[in-house]
This record gives sequence, structure tokens and C-alpha cells, in this order.
Amino acid sequence: MPKPKFAVYWAASCGGCEIAFLDIREKILDFDAAADLVFCPCLLDTKYKDVEAMADGEIDVTLFNGGIRNEENLHIAKLLRQKSKVLVAFGSCAFEGCIPGLANLTTKSEILDYVYRKSPSVEPGNTTFPQTVTETPAGRLTLPDLFEVLRPLDHVVDVDYRMPGCPPVAEQIWAVAEAALTGKLPPKGALVGVNPKTVCDECKRTKEEKKIKAFRRPHLVDPRDIDPVKCLLEQGIICNGPAIHAGCGALCPQVNLGCRGCYGPADGIQDVGAKLAGAIASIIDSDDPAEIQAVADQIVDPVGTFYRFGLAGSLVGRRIRS
Ligand code: SF4
Repeated sequence: MPKPKFAVYWAASCGGCEIAFLDIREKILDFDAAADLVFCPCLLDTKYKDVEAMADGEIDVTLFNGGIRNEENLHIAKLLRQKSKVLVAFGSCAFEGCIPGLANLTTKSEILDYVYRKSPSVEPGNTTFPQTVTETPAGRLTLPDLFEVLRPLDHVVDVDYRMPGCPPVAEQIWAVAEAALTGKLPPKGALVGVNPKTVCDECKRTKEEKKIKAFRRPHLVDPRDIDPVKCLLEQGIICNGPAIHAGCGALCPQVNLGCRGCYGPADGIQDVGAKLAGAIASIIDSDDPAEIQAVADQIVDPVGTFYRFGLAGSLVGRRIRS
């Protein structure tokens, strides 16, 4: 009986999801015994033309990490959709854009202008600028064109499952891989590699009444001043746990860091940033609009705080300019 074929691909992302895949440690041997990894540019020398030569649906499961930032990402997303029975948006970048999606706050021309002209590491007067086509004596060189915005995977192709996490934790990756190998994946469309409810439900910190007079930025707080048992939000440290899907085991709150939100919106939440902004604003302990505004102003980077992982997949998806 032939083994099921798996692929793992890396589009616009940091590569952490593929490292997390290797974090399943000795289970990688079980995976290798049960499946054939047929395409994984990070580990194997399989070429795009090898994938193009495969029959449609020949790959049983593709874990696709990374958002769609350029023409190459889009081409491979369509190719892997065509060649895969099951396509999983694997990790926060493919699921909802993640950190690369924060570039949707700016424009393609501003990004290129900064990187190739204004960045402190660029020589003043630099005129070298990336071109999609360059003719050289050795032949024509091409680069994939950058899109105006980054899009999550399900904005460009049909996706069977979405798996959040930056990166997904190893236990969840193995659980999903095992379900795929044994034919026990849930119905198409499900979020996989998560637990029901929210990070707050997984968090062991004690919860009382959330009413705060000031926010404290974690890097400015002496760790000795943080109660190791009490809810961080109740101590004025922003924690996105109330609106974020469970599945990581509440790792960040365990080490005195507020949940950053990488497991994406909990069930029923349409726009993660709007929900988080509302939830955090509701715990400010004041009826005075001026005082509420003053406390809210202590949140130095609202987009980065509430949309750090979900901007590209949010209702608006990018910065809107008039
Ligand atoms: Fe929820 Fe964060 Fe408080 Fe834990 S520390 S209970 S995750 S708000």
C-alpha cells in the first residue's frame, strides 16, 4: 500500500512554521514511516517542475505556510491547490496574514522606496532597484512582482482547513498530522490544531474583576512587580487572551507576557482587532471620557497590539487612504 504523500511549502513568512514542524522531535520518525514528504523546499531539493509534473490531487496533504505577497507565492498556491487533495493554511501567515501582513499598513512603492533608497543600510544615492525583468549578456533574469498587499491563503485559493499559530505548537502539529494520516480530519472548513474556547480558559492565572486605571508596557515593568499568579490584564499588562482561540496552552501568560493573539480570533469573532479593542476598552475603570481617553492613549501601538497577526485577514485588511 503506497504511503500518503505530504508537501510543506513556505511562502511569505519567516520559516518558523517549518521549524515548528521539525519540533515534533522523535515523532518525525513516525511521520517518515507513515508518509512520503514529496515537496518541501526547506528540506528537499524537489523542483517546481517536479510538482508541475504530478497528477492533479496526487499530493494527499499540503501544509502551506506563509501569506501571498508576490507572483511566485500565488503561482505555487494555485499549483499546490491543483495537486493536493487537502490544502491546509498552516500557521498564522497563511491563516490571517500575521506579521508580514502588517506591511498592508503601507504601500508597495513606499516599501521599495524605503528598502532600496531610504534605509540607513543603503548607500546615499543608490539607484539600484529591483526589476521584474532584467536583460543580461547571460540571458533574461526575472523576479516575481510584489503585490500591493499581502493576502491570506484562502483569499486566493480554496482552502480545506486553517491552522493558526505563530508558529503552531508542536503538539498541535502532530495531532493534525496524525489525524491526516489516519483519515480522521474533521469536515472541510474546520479550524484544526486548536482547542475550544479562549486562551483565558486555558490560562491558570486567577481571574477576579478586570478593572484597571493604567496600562503598563511589559518591557518597562520590573518582573518582580508582576504577580505570578494573578491575571496579567488585571495588573494593567495588555493580554489578548479573552478573544483569542485556545490551543497553545496559554504559553505567553505562563512567562509573564500577555497573549499576543497568534492563535487568531475565538469562534464567532468576525474582526479580531475590533473585538480586542472593545474588550480592552471595557475594563478601563472610569466613567469620565477624558480619563478613559488618557488611559487608552497609553496603548502606544493599537494596530500592532490588536491586529498584530490578523490585519490582512480582518474586515478592512489594510490601511485605507483617501
Ligand atoms: Fe486571560 Fe491573559 Fe488574564 Fe490569562 S493573563 S486570564 S490569558 S487575560
